[in-house]
Amino acid sequence: MNLRVEGDRTLSGTNLLQTRALNRRAVFDAVRRSGPVTRAELAQAIGLTVQAISNIAFELESAGLIRQQGKRAGQRGQPAVELSLDPTGGYSIGLSLAYRRVIGVLVDLTGEVVASEARELVEREPDVTANVLGRLVSHLLEKSKLRRENIWGIGCSVPGTVENGAFWYDKVQEGEEWETFPLAAKLEELTGLRTFVENDATVAAIGERLYGIGRVARSFFYLHFNLGVGGGLVLDGHHYRGTFGGAGEIGHMIVKPGGRLCACGSRGCLEQYLSFYSAAETVCGPSRTPDEVPGEELAAYCRQGDPRLVAWMNEAGQYLRIAIRNIEALFDPDTVVIGGGLPAELLEGLIAAASPLLPNMVHRRASPLPRLMPAEHASELPALGAAALPMAVVMQPHASGSAWASTTSGLPMPTNPALAALGIDFSSR
Ligand SMILES: [Zn+2]
Repeated sequence: MNLRVEGDRTLSGTNLLQTRALNRRAVFDAVRRSGPVTRAELAQAIGLTVQAISNIAFELESAGLIRQQGKRAGQRGQPAVELSLDPTGGYSIGLSLAYRRVIGVLVDLTGEVVASEARELVEREPDVTANVLGRLVSHLLEKSKLRRENIWGIGCSVPGTVENGAFWYDKVQEGEEWETFPLAAKLEELTGLRTFVENDATVAAIGERLYGIGRVARSFFYLHFNLGVGGGLVLDGHHYRGTFGGAGEIGHMIVKPGGRLCACGSRGCLEQYLSFYSAAETVCGPSRTPDEVPGEELAAYCRQGDPRLVAWMNEAGQYLRIAIRNIEALFDPDTVVIGGGLPAELLEGLIAAASPLLPNMVHRRASPLPRLMPAEHASELPALGAAALPMAVVMQPHASGSAWASTTSGLPMPTNPALAALGIDFSSR
């Protein structure tokens, strides 16, 4: 494991370089979250002197990460200069591997999309899929006219459990060859860019943490719908993936002992009752499988008040209540966010069917957030969350402890001076 993070041993370390890198990251993150912001405001938020903030801001500006943006008139003295992220300070690529298609986006430092592209996935054999993703990356680079050196890395969202850069696709649907396919290493080989692969629900949670609900909630659970249902967990501002990358896999929480048989081998798993798949099952008929039902068709049935879907919604809503109550019992989060690839009509119907929620044992003293709320960022752009993965690695205080760090092709990558200013080096492992 060679993902070097200088500030990684702050508790035991007294190394000045480590402290400086950590302080730079703290200032960078504060500007990212609350910019435009003045040096005095940063000093107050981070607990450093204005002089120290000025020095760090100068270093970040020299590295091209932040810039001065206008002035704010104060009550006294000189107007204060406002700092914000320099969008051109770094770029990343997000790839989303969904059931039938792949989506790629290239974003700047602020998460603005610079280039995007989507492709249908006709054949889903692992090597073919990796090649499609590799070509997508080349196209995004061509469209954006950016060089590889400008790109911090690639994030890739996949519908399965990720361990060491390989992931467990649904092998029942996709075949055994996907089992432990080294996707991250393969993409690094094809693109020459450091690649982080992560489960789609965790990616959605990371996207919300950086660009959405994470601005107001320190801890939240993201209940994420794809064909099935999964979950991503953000605790105290950092996502948590578990020892083997399976934290939040709520779709296989048993909600009905002895209930419907699940592909995982258990009976009565949540996703047998609460998922796109189970909703589609009620309308697909004998001529097609549930995964062949388009989302728009379910949405149309929903608008018409189709009795099959109404019955499904009422039952699924009860299981949603159980799920939320169990999530709260385990994690006591600020809120549970619900989103992903479920048509909006179905999502709204589910939230209504789950009301009122089961009583919570914890007294939520005047919490500004409801216990259950729809995701801010959706769903339609899971690739955006994936593009946040390299940024999320940078923002992790203990990045070297991340399981992502072991995803490796062993290939050298371009050194990025902006990343180096933050004490991060993706160039070797
Ligand atoms: Zn299951």
